[in-house]
Amino acid sequence: MDCIFCKIVEGSIPSKKVLETDTVLAFHDINPAAPVHVLIIPKQHIATMNDVTPENASVIGDIALAAQQVAEQLGIKERGYRLINNCNEEGGQVVYHLHIHLLGGKKMGEILK
Ligand code: AMP
Ligand code: ZN
Repeated sequence: MDCIFCKIVEGSIPSKKVLETDTVLAFHDINPAAPVHVLIIPKQHIATMNDVTPENASVIGDIALAAQQVAEQLGIKERGYRLINNCNEEGGQVVYHLHIHLLGGKKMGEILK
């Protein structure tokens, strides 16, 4: 499948890994929008948040647990951080493999846009 994040999971495209579990992978965003900008993805190809089903929905919990661990590892768990998912075109999604942005390391702005 021609999916850049599946290739990162396979290892055929390199990434700066932060955390890996049986079901999820976290790696630094190549174009960071904050001092900490990590992407957390399911290893399984799920295209968008709209493609989460009762059968695969447990991975959302796995992502939440991974987010806590990533934030702790990078020293921002208690200070705080922001999780964002962009879904489909008007949501600003560019890569069609489900991912959650973990942003932090600074006081985030008030406006989501
Ligand atoms: P989105 O707009 O939510 O689809 O975000 C896609 C994100 O993937 C952007 O923040 C990109 O900077 C990031 N990205 C694209 N290619 C790579 C890559 N090879 N390694 C790490 N991050 C990437
Ligand atoms: Zn994929």
